[in-house]
This record gives sequence, C-alpha cells and structure tokens, in this order.
Amino acid sequence: MKTKKQLIVLSAPSGAGKTTLARFLLSRFPQFKFSVSATTRKPRENEIDGKDYYFLSEEKFKKLIENGGLIEYEQIFGNYYGTLRSEVEGSLARGETVVFDIDVKGALSIKKLYPENSFLIFIAPPSLDKLKERLIQRGTETAEQLQKRFERIEMEMKMQDKFDYILVNDDLVKAKEELENLVKRITDFL
Ligand code: ADP
Ligand code: 5GP
Repeated sequence: MKTKKQLIVLSAPSGAGKTTLARFLLSRFPQFKFSVSATTRKPRENEIDGKDYYFLSEEKFKKLIENGGLIEYEQIFGNYYGTLRSEVEGSLARGETVVFDIDVKGALSIKKLYPENSFLIFIAPPSLDKLKERLIQRGTETAEQLQKRFERIEMEMKMQDKFDYILVNDDLVKAKEELENLVKRITDFL
C-alpha cells in the first residue's frame, strides 16, 4: 500500500536550483504550502519577509529555540536557519502538503521526526563546475560568502544517498517535468 506523503523536502548544495524548483512546485500545485523558515541571514534584494523567510535578529532566533518554536535548526554559512513548528503542525493536522527548502541536515531531522509522512528529494547539480558557475552567476553573494558555500559542497554531496530520491537538475525544463511527475506519484495527485 502506498502512503500519501505530506512533507516534501527539497535539499541541495547552494546553487543547485532548489529555490527555483520549490517555486515551480508551488506554482504548479497552488494548494501546497511552503514552510517559511526563520533565519538570521540578511534579506536579499528580491526577498520578502514572511514569504521567503522570517528574517530575525539573533536574539529573537535564540528566544525561538528556547521556547521550543523550532522543530529543527542549523547554523549554516555563519547564520541560523530553522523550521517553525507553527508552519508544520497545523498543515499536517489539516491534511495539507508542505514543501520545504532546507539544508541536508535539516532534511534528515524532518525524516526522523516524521518518518512515515516525509519524502526527501536531493537536487543534484550536473557537475561541480556548473554548480559553482550558477552560484556565481546568481550574483547574490560576496566572494567571502561564496567561499563558505563552496566549502560545504562536499559534505552535502555525501549525504545524497540518505535521500528518498535524487533529481539531477541539468536541463531545467526536464527537471521540472521529472519533479512534477514524482510529486504527483508521492502525493496521490494523479
Ligand atoms: P538554490 O536555491 O539551490 O541555492 P537557486 O534556485 O537559487 O539555487 O539556483 C541558483 C541559480 O541557478 C539561479 O540563478 C537559477 O536561476 C539558476 N538555475 C537553476 N536551475 C538551473 C538550470 N537547470 N540550468 C541553469 N541555471 C539554473
Ligand atoms: P540561503 O541563504 O541560500 O537562502 O540558504 C542557505 C541554506 O540554508 C540552504 O541550504 C537552505 O535550504 C537552508 N535552509 C533554509 N531554511 C532552513 C531551515 O529552516 N532549516 C535548515 N536546516 N536549513 C534551512
């Protein structure tokens, strides 16, 4: 018997395309909810508070940790990132499907918390060179920030075997099609 999965987790090394693919998924399935994470990172130019992230001070983030408001959090590239309990529990109870864009360690935490209900998708770049090229071309990081992101790639790539599915994001049109078909299968939206 197939179990319907409610928590769809997208993870990847920075620059592999998980934000692009998460946005596509939410536009293709408008009934899905996006789990808006909390972070202490500064907003990028096109990011909206409450939509892309809840942008918090370190003090407020630490309060959230103390109050049990986060179901998982990690320190990544010198900033905190975490999943809010409130983004997940209500949706689960209402039977909604939730999409996450979180790092590989956070993804495994979600799997541990919700083993029956979660499905982890690793977005793999076609090559390391292409990954670095995309990240540089995105133009949102300083040279120092880019270096921090590059340093984490090896650890992230090693974790892919722990995921339920590996999706190679080479040709974007094909990757979107593959993702859409996969998600239809795991959420029974056929
Ligand atoms: P992530 O969220 O994993 O850091 P993004 O979705 O921001 O990655 O993608 C990184 C950059 O690569 C963006 O500029 C995006 O437009 C571009 N990109 C994403 N997928 C592809 C693809 N298949 N081919 C070429 N460029 C891509
Ligand atoms: P970015 O700064 O590029 O938006 O995100 C950096 C990394 O943090 C990405 O791998 C992103 O998926 C991850 N991330 C975003 N939100 C969360 C979260 O709530 N928890 C965890 N563990 N990682 C997150």
